[in-house]
Amino acid sequence: MAALPVEEVRSRVEADFDRIVNVLNKKIALQSISAKGITADHMKRSAEFVAEELNKVGVNAQVVQSHNPNGTPGAWEVIGSKIVNEDAPTVLLYAHHDVQPVPDASAWNTDPFVGTVIDTRLYGRGAADDGGGIAIHSGALQALGDDLKVNIKVFVEGEEEMGSPSFIPFIEEHKDEFDSDVIIVADSGNWSAEIPSLTTSLRGNTDIDVHVKALHHPVHSGQYGGPILDANTLAAMLIASMYDEHGDLAVPGVASEDPIGGLQRDMDETAVRTDAGIVDSYRLAGTGSLAARLWTKPSVTVIGFDAHPVEGSFNVISPETTFRLSLRTAPNQRPEEAQEALAAFMVEHAPFGAEVWVDKLDNGMGWAMDPNAEATKDAMEAMEEAFGVAPVNKGEGGSIPFIPELQRIFPKAQVLVTGPEDPKANAHSPNESISLPSLKNNVITEALLLDKLAK
Ligand SMILES: [Zn+2]
Repeated sequence: MAALPVEEVRSRVEADFDRIVNVLNKKIALQSISAKGITADHMKRSAEFVAEELNKVGVNAQVVQSHNPNGTPGAWEVIGSKIVNEDAPTVLLYAHHDVQPVPDASAWNTDPFVGTVIDTRLYGRGAADDGGGIAIHSGALQALGDDLKVNIKVFVEGEEEMGSPSFIPFIEEHKDEFDSDVIIVADSGNWSAEIPSLTTSLRGNTDIDVHVKALHHPVHSGQYGGPILDANTLAAMLIASMYDEHGDLAVPGVASEDPIGGLQRDMDETAVRTDAGIVDSYRLAGTGSLAARLWTKPSVTVIGFDAHPVEGSFNVISPETTFRLSLRTAPNQRPEEAQEALAAFMVEHAPFGAEVWVDKLDNGMGWAMDPNAEATKDAMEAMEEAFGVAPVNKGEGGSIPFIPELQRIFPKAQVLVTGPEDPKANAHSPNESISLPSLKNNVITEALLLDKLAK
């Protein structure tokens, strides 16, 4: 089975590119904001549009409504398949058709719901996240047409931006229909418009509330201050005890990893400083590559702290306080295990024997791709052929909760995380956009990848 030549695939995508951009423009105009009602008619219309477009490229697609874990109606989902050969490998293509809201259209330079091209970019809500993913799947299937040699299954979700409340029951209910050898999740992005990437890892997360108590009731700071430290100070000591002198988190049992698949290129400190708005005098905490610190090492953030506001404060020793820690976990560590270790550390490091107890809150699993999987190598090759440059691995410090769920439900499937975004895409923000040259290369990549996966 000879592979399709790259130039043949490229010329097919070039010829089809106006249609692909048109699909994206129509998708943007649908205003499929799931925050305005997951079950509402506008979301159903959006799902129907996606199903129609998939049908045009040979997928037998339909709209179905999921239901929430409590049985109430859920999102309008698009599912479909194109079976070419029972013995061929099966690939599940994922995207989502809902988009983020537009709280302030005046923050946009263009109408958020009219696809508008400026230079090489198409602007509009959902142009990248994740209309771009739908456009990639549509373009790749059209480019392959009757040359498609793998079976395709499609799932285009209608509630990703709302945290996918009915995702797990829906997938479990359709487990046989979605069962596949490779899952392509086109909802992330590339290193830049010119340099392609696989998303190699996602951190998990877990939260705990820590209570610190020194006194049974508040006392006067003049009368008792000195031997009795206030609960806020004790909490601050406890928080500081998690770090070594370099600012690395040093909590035994909370795992740390190196970038998955190796680090081809580190994050640029200047760009990170600018993007995050870091004051000039601040030195970055921790050691090792910036990429590892952002993607695969654990991090703790105090996201809540019960202390008396400055305004109206008075001379009293606070008897007791609570703070909430959000721990981002290394991609492969089970969050329950990291949570247990962090909770034990807090109790063991109680300053001056203060009473410390912990409430354990929610856990979300991280995810790491398999760098040695055949599908990973095929994807890297397809990216290099399409973009003309070698891909650069890119981790994510945050979480995409449905990806570890997919991996859990389909443990044998090789999950590839690709997508239309680049650092200028502004997904979730005003002036969201997609790079059109990059979109074209992403379509070519996915067509080449599907062709390679047939072997
Ligand atoms: Zn998305």
